[in-house]
Amino acid sequence: MSFLDRLKNMLTAPGGVDQRSYWVHARCKRCGEVITARVDLMNDLSKDFETGQYAVHKVLVGAGRNRCFQRIEVTLRFDKNKKLVERSITGGEFLEPDQVEVARAAYEQAIAEARARAEAEREEQRSKIND
Ligand SMILES: [Zn+2]
Repeated sequence: MSFLDRLKNMLTAPGGVDQRSYWVHARCKRCGEVITARVDLMNDLSKDFETGQYAVHKVLVGAGRNRCFQRIEVTLRFDKNKKLVERSITGGEFLEPDQVEVARAAYEQAIAEARARAEAEREEQRSKIND
């Protein structure tokens, strides 16, 4: 990988050094899915001319792998230097960057367990029919 590629990766990776992006990590309250969204600090924010602050409203929808289509709504407020000053969320909870990996693994495990349970139930049905 060239130096430029490495630099590019660093600038675009979640949690990387990227002055232009703010990354939101949220966990769905219903199914535990972890959703990460990028806020473009140059384009996504609307300015409140009275206070000089910025705000953005985002609706996060998961992939629905667990048949959950919960909408997670996030509002973020930034000061005039685009530093986060306030945030609120409905339908889920915020995750800090260092919590994302664990939460994502827990969600994957929950899905795998739900699949295994469904499979076991199907097996049981099948063996009942054969009896
Ligand atoms: Zn969900």
